[in-house]
Amino acid sequence: TYQVHIIGGGLAGSEAAWQLARRGVKVRLSEMRGGGGSTPAHQTEGLAELVCSNSFRSDDDERNAVGLLHHEMRRLDSLVMRAGEVARVPAGSAMAVDRDVFSAEVQKALENQPNIEIVREKVDTLPESGLTIVSTGPLTAASLAESIGRATGSDSLAFFDAIAPIVHHESIDMSVCWMQSRWNKGDGKDYINCPMDKDQYLAFHQGLLDGEKTTFKEWEENTPYFEGCMPIEVMAERGVDTLRYGPMKPVGLDDPRTGRWPYAVVQLRQDNKLGTLWNMVGFQTKLRHAEQVRLFRTIPGLENAEFARLGGLHRNTFLNSPTLLDRQLRLKSAPHIRFAGQITGCEGYVESSAVGLLTGLMTAAEVSGREWASPPRTSAMGALLAHITGDAEAESYQPMNVNFGLFPPLHDVKKKQRKEAYTERAKADFGDWLATNEMVPA
Ligand code: FAD
Repeated sequence: TYQVHIIGGGLAGSEAAWQLARRGVKVRLSEMRGGGGSTPAHQTEGLAELVCSNSFRSDDDERNAVGLLHHEMRRLDSLVMRAGEVARVPAGSAMAVDRDVFSAEVQKALENQPNIEIVREKVDTLPESGLTIVSTGPLTAASLAESIGRATGSDSLAFFDAIAPIVHHESIDMSVCWMQSRWNKGDGKDYINCPMDKDQYLAFHQGLLDGEKTTFKEWEENTPYFEGCMPIEVMAERGVDTLRYGPMKPVGLDDPRTGRWPYAVVQLRQDNKLGTLWNMVGFQTKLRHAEQVRLFRTIPGLENAEFARLGGLHRNTFLNSPTLLDRQLRLKSAPHIRFAGQITGCEGYVESSAVGLLTGLMTAAEVSGREWASPPRTSAMGALLAHITGDAEAESYQPMNVNFGLFPPLHDVKKKQRKEAYTERAKADFGDWLATNEMVPA
């Protein structure tokens, strides 16, 4: 028997299970992969699979909001952060991981927890009773999505995300490409750069515009893209230079063959520990697969590229949380059910995990009859939680990464020092919250 049923063993569900189990709560963790279900993006049966990029983004906890979120999660003994550390690969000031090592670490930790029973099964309806956490992600199985739709009485929104291709390292021509991080940050040479001159860039840009795109059944012309995951060809449509100021930006990258910045670059980032797979940074796309191979092989250095995975386009389901959920992420109409992860309308691996962590803490408090105190509004977790559960505009609600715009403003601090001021305040307040609420189990 169990005290809490978690549906979905992705990032959020795995983190929630860990937090509950560590506090002595018995958990049933239902995951459909390995039990007859799958999603269009997942490729394994591993818990906490990373479906696209292998990056947890900036690890800078002094000037960056997601880095600060890393810091807070670590202080709460986050499983995702623990496993991420074990699986870490070089990525400048960012935190990137080997996705297979990461998923295996998460799974091993959960399997070793006597309080957790992992069940490979697809859940089709929301449970009528019993404490439940729904963390089924942006690709929630259709049956359950319908059940959620019925319970929320509103149309659960859906829109679409695009994923970037991954290239085999051995197929990259390193006599053309070179390794360097922009402005030599981090290790100085964490990225592979493919240089383009003006003619090559213009031809490539035209190729993106002309390339045949996949037609997506559920696709609609006016589907809003989340800015951080915009397909490369959509960006190309915005103007001839949009890409040169975006993912193909050449500044701070000196081509050793010329000693100068090229006209444009394509960057690749290490995707696994072995260094055999590299993903094309910012190259999410809905071009047809054959078209991707043809066009991406016109990139200097990628003439013979072999692709481990091509880009694609996927559904993204999330709730209108500001109207549907209370401040503890409970469904107002059925408060035994909490939601966690991207389905709440946070955006990103780290944010999804953080919201999973929070639901774990909230549910643990509920099980033991303790009053719940939310993390301070000035912390990254508190800011994200407040945004999701009511501070966001319900009418224009869109998945949101953590950022300093969600924090109570510090107008009095000079702009140059503001980021440091946000993180300093956050760390102090978060520390107080931890101390007063005994949030970390012995
Ligand atoms: P998931 O990690 O997807 O976990 C949900 C789990 O629930 C899955 O294991 C699934 O199999 C399971 N499940 C679903 N329905 C059922 C059911 N009915 N019964 C049982 N189990 C079920 N974020 C980034 O930071 N970087 C990226 O590059 C990135 N790329 C993305 C690309 C795509 C195509 C998508 C869709 C999202 C991407 N995201 C990215 C956003 C988001 O961070 C990830 O989707 C993240 O995995 C969300 O975590 P989660 O725990 O909410 O959901």
